[in-house]
Amino acid sequence: MDDNFYRHLWVEEDNFLRCLRCGKCLSVCPLYQRSKRESLSPRGKIAILEKARDGALPLDAVLAERMEHCLHCMRCRVDCPAGVDFPRLILSARAELVAAGRLGTMKSLILRLLLKRGRLLPPFTETTARLVSILDIIIPRTSRWRSLLPIPAGNNYRIFPRPKAKSFLAEYAGLHRAPGKSRGKVFYFVGCATNLVYTQIGVALIKLYNSMGYDVFISGEQGCCGFPALGYGDIATARYRAGSLAKEVADSGSDALVVACASCGHMFKEEYPRLGIKLSLPVYDSVEYLNTIDGREFNRRTDLPRTVFHLPCHLGRGQGLTHLHQKALAQRLGKNFLGAVLPEECCGAGGTYHLKHYQMTRDMGEAKVRAMQDLGGELMVTSCPGCMLYLDEALTKAGMPTSRHILEALAEGVEE
Ligand code: SF4
Ligand code: SF4
Repeated sequence: MDDNFYRHLWVEEDNFLRCLRCGKCLSVCPLYQRSKRESLSPRGKIAILEKARDGALPLDAVLAERMEHCLHCMRCRVDCPAGVDFPRLILSARAELVAAGRLGTMKSLILRLLLKRGRLLPPFTETTARLVSILDIIIPRTSRWRSLLPIPAGNNYRIFPRPKAKSFLAEYAGLHRAPGKSRGKVFYFVGCATNLVYTQIGVALIKLYNSMGYDVFISGEQGCCGFPALGYGDIATARYRAGSLAKEVADSGSDALVVACASCGHMFKEEYPRLGIKLSLPVYDSVEYLNTIDGREFNRRTDLPRTVFHLPCHLGRGQGLTHLHQKALAQRLGKNFLGAVLPEECCGAGGTYHLKHYQMTRDMGEAKVRAMQDLGGELMVTSCPGCMLYLDEALTKAGMPTSRHILEALAEGVEE
């Protein structure tokens, strides 16, 4: 037996022992459904990991490649009759692979240099965006080199939003006071995608919360929540990020931590406790805090587009908030809210999974867009900037407008 297997994060014996080999997870796992490869299914990967744990398989590059294949969509966890927590097991397995030196130079540089400290990330993404714009102009449309870059190249080209010239934190860090008497103060955790790309989400949160009487505190030092590092198995970086944030939160004098990214919210609620990090404030999704905890109502606006909701996996299965956002949208939009599109299904992003394995999940984003069109929807709203990043590509390719965050839909027309 390889002792390394138990060295890092969670003791997984219970997960291994529980698996009945029944195969129910095969019918729900989107990666198995697309590949029909047992080795990509939860059951297949459990069998592989058991062998690795017993020393019959090395923690090598082949095993590392197998363990890349999971969207962390949590479908298998919900549907497993034996209660196997495969999403937890895959993170544990990746942690073991990292301990065995399988992180890779590029990931190591990105996670341990850029993401760990945080300050270098905005200039890096801004410079990369500028560079891509220049390459887009100078590399001919027909060149095969285009396929190596995130710029249009043939049928399989990718569309990524360009990072903003100025990050959200550079512009909005500080205390944003509500007019009149304050109902309380929240610590807003921004997250990387909002900080660098979808800065309008943060602007909407400040506007909405201030209009409802809450002061919003935004720490300029907050950085990343650590979930990308955890997803790659880099537990040390994830724990470092979590510990830094815990300090920021403790010193902030706020009533609650609110977050407008489903994956960051899942990280705080489920993964921080496993990492042994306790936040001193209660954590809420930004809509959950207003609507459920404080019973705030959202004013009706009937002049907004016919809207559908994409339910992020890390909001529904990851935080148990399956209906709340739809309720808020129905309150706000009335009959112009058409419901959730394929609410059980993942959009196919899987964090950064789509960057390397686009062909595997491309149709998942497209299916969401088709479902929206079938309902007569004009706009897709969601609550995870990571999903927006992926869905915007499918929406753009289908000639539809890009998605919006639910906070934007709720804040539209609100008096500043
Ligand atoms: S559904 Fe659960 S018990 Fe059945 S094979 Fe999959 S992981 Fe094992
Ligand atoms: S979390 Fe999702 S993608 Fe990963 S194994 Fe389970 S069902 Fe498949």
